[in-house]
Amino acid sequence: MPPLTLRMHDHDNVAIVANEGGLPTGTVLPSGLVLREKVPQGHKVSLVAIAEGAAVCRYGVPIGFAAEPIAAGRWVHERLLRMPEAGALEGLPMATAPKSPGAPLEGFTFEGFRNADGSVGTRNLLAITTTVQCVAGVVEHAVKRIRAELLPKYPHVDDVVALEHGYGCGVAIDAPDAVIPIRTLRHISLNPNFGGEVMVVSLGCEKLAPTRLLPPGSIPVRDEREPGLDVVVLQDEAGFGPMLERICERAEHHLQRLDARRRETVPASELVVGVQCGGSDAFSGVTANPAVGFCTDLIVRAGGTVLFSETTEVRDAVAQLTARAATREVAEAIVREMAWYDAYLQRGRVDRSANTTPGNKAGGLSNIVEKAMGSVVKSGSAPISAVLAPGEKLKPGQKGLVYAATPASDFICGTLQLAAGMNLHVFTTGRGTPYGLAEAPVVKVATRSELARRWHDLMDLDAGRIAEGQATVEDLGWELFRLLLATASGQRTWAEKHRLHNALVLFNPAPVT
Ligand code: CA
Repeated sequence: MPPLTLRMHDHDNVAIVANEGGLPTGTVLPSGLVLREKVPQGHKVSLVAIAEGAAVCRYGVPIGFAAEPIAAGRWVHERLLRMPEAGALEGLPMATAPKSPGAPLEGFTFEGFRNADGSVGTRNLLAITTTVQCVAGVVEHAVKRIRAELLPKYPHVDDVVALEHGYGCGVAIDAPDAVIPIRTLRHISLNPNFGGEVMVVSLGCEKLAPTRLLPPGSIPVRDEREPGLDVVVLQDEAGFGPMLERICERAEHHLQRLDARRRETVPASELVVGVQCGGSDAFSGVTANPAVGFCTDLIVRAGGTVLFSETTEVRDAVAQLTARAATREVAEAIVREMAWYDAYLQRGRVDRSANTTPGNKAGGLSNIVEKAMGSVVKSGSAPISAVLAPGEKLKPGQKGLVYAATPASDFICGTLQLAAGMNLHVFTTGRGTPYGLAEAPVVKVATRSELARRWHDLMDLDAGRIAEGQATVEDLGWELFRLLLATASGQRTWAEKHRLHNALVLFNPAPVT
């Protein structure tokens, strides 16, 4: 391939090198610019001379200021950049620029499982809610037995999933911030992919008692003869064997009901897609994330819901987000969530720059500002219609583009998006991660073709074709949209085929005891 560099915006004074393996010293770019040193793939080259203290621009915004004079044709790495301060949370444009992402899209459907509460599942799973980590070992045994002995009798049920976590006891459960892990667990139990069948395994003496986790009225009554919560309490059983017997007996009760369900044709407006990235590189903001952003607009135009998250990765784009808010109240909620997170980080004596990883930097991302500008494009161009605090669930009728505030940690973000009501997950990666969830299908999009080729049995879509000029962002966006509808209808992702499942990880900003 001839030397290829990618520049994102007319104001940019750097571009990134697209060629696999990077470009050696002395390479002559099509513009005539000669590289003064080797520039690795995904890393930045200065297009003009940049004075000390001047802004280094990518995506049309300053991602840093030159720490020394930078000649044209140099490798612009993180040591040459001073990071800008985070933008102030005062004086922001509030709901000044919400714009339509385009005409409504009609006629797109998928085959989903309709639930009594109006939501739609993309999978038909039996979930076993646990109140505390103490029960995890027993529940793991029970799940193995259910899978081996019961599931073959119920072919319309896709799988059984234990909602295992580290919370429930040994925690300051009355601390104000404990509301976050508790409502997260509650809302995950009610995820659309579990069909409204809630069964709980409790130890018996834990702080997070079943009725505290799922108080009366928090779950719909499925059967008038059994109005209460379905709970197995391990301390009430006569040993390990009877515990397993009891869990399997309750599981079979729910499996019978789940097995009676069938997929039916539903409009694409029933999609609730959580988007996030992990193991990002400099291509994330060039290929995969813009394709996801285009797809986000398609889903919103079809009447569906997209959750975007990862507070530290959108913090530097706060002015763009508040401007795109549909109403002033939504803009204020965005500011409230950012301020809460700033204070949370401050308590731990760090700031948003704690986000970036060694892999991000090796992949060409110099700092969190550059990472954030590439991350936020997953949200497309639609107005932001609502904001969810960590662990909150979509309210009936909340649709469109929703900012679900979460940490950027892949597992915590995925867990909180499940609580919000996500029935399908899109995950972009440049460095590569085998990430998967047991609770919802995860469609993985590679930012580079080299990764997509090497990990051909892990990546569901190759967005690297955009960098190589073989496809446009629009092409990939449509391809992803169609892939999501097929996946929602039951087509399995690579992670599902291999049963690659990461743990649920609760966000607990409150103390443990
Ligand atoms: Ca992430």
